[in-house]
Amino acid sequence: ALPKKGTPPVGLFSDELHRDLADRISLRNDLRAALEADDLQLFFQPKYDLVTGKITSAEALLRWQHIEKGFISPALFIPLAEQTGDIRAIGDWVAEHAIKQLAKWRQQNIVDGSFVLAINVSPQQMVTGTFASDLLECCQRHKVEPKQVQVEITESAVMQNLMKVQHELEVLTRAGVTVAMDDFGTGYSSLSYLRNLPISVIKIDRSFVMNLVSNSSDQQLVGTIVLMAHNFKCSIVAEGIETVEQAKLLVQMACNEGQGFLFSRPITQNEFEELVQSPAHTIESYL
Ligand code: C2E
Ligand code: MG
Ligand code: MG
Ligand code: MG
Repeated sequence: ALPKKGTPPVGLFSDELHRDLADRISLRNDLRAALEADDLQLFFQPKYDLVTGKITSAEALLRWQHIEKGFISPALFIPLAEQTGDIRAIGDWVAEHAIKQLAKWRQQNIVDGSFVLAINVSPQQMVTGTFASDLLECCQRHKVEPKQVQVEITESAVMQNLMKVQHELEVLTRAGVTVAMDDFGTGYSSLSYLRNLPISVIKIDRSFVMNLVSNSSDQQLVGTIVLMAHNFKCSIVAEGIETVEQAKLLVQMACNEGQGFLFSRPITQNEFEELVQSPAHTIESYL
């Protein structure tokens, strides 16, 4: 029934929700236009070996500079794109640009054959069933070795079709691509994913690293996750390292790699090239 005259707007038809919806629709349209106009950009955040202190790899992170609104966080537009289905076009853009960049860095000898570039992938990108073959085709076209590519999948999104994701990831790993589980510990079924998916890297979520120094139960939790990862023959990466104390604790716990503002924020292509080529690109001073 229609609300009576004078009844304040409720539920779906409240002003606020209406505005929110309008905002989301306009953001969606803007994002599509940005994709078409190539207004997106990849930033790169290095990951360091916590034993040698050297850069081993980098994570490609999407950046969108909106013409009017300025910088819009992927934490905002990625979930939106996942809801609208636009994530597939965005994912294709990311893969193409990341792998093209990696090919260039290899040709110019900016990185060596052991360097790995990771891209973030939403499980929704895998539902079409061509994700793995498209990515491998992209590697082939740019003459990039699949072993230099990693996909980070986040477990926080409930996977609609675990079987399909499993299949796609297995095709990739057979070709040499590695799979990292992102934000480990924040999702619903971390352990069942670990059991069913060909994961070789676990990225421990920033929320656990954040209180590592002050919170002894977080310390135990992280220590246990590191041991578990090693039992599963997985390498473990800590994300969101911001302090020297956190880094030192993680080293003690035998965490393999680290990433975070302490070492470097996500940076532009040029900045990354400078960083990775500079003789002092290690983090020895922190360890
Ligand atoms: P993520 O994959 O877990 O990436 C890590 C996020 O933590 C990045 O945020 C990074 O800038 C931030 N970060 C790294 N070190 C630190 C630190 O020491 N302290 C703090 N406070 N933050 C740190 P960003 O770039 O805003 O990305 C947010 C999320 O958006 C990503 O989380 C990822 O889930 C998603 N995302 C970004 N780019 C892509 C993409 O190309 N495709 C997909 N599907 N998702 C993406
Ligand atoms: Mg990630
Ligand atoms: Mg993460
Ligand atoms: Mg995250």
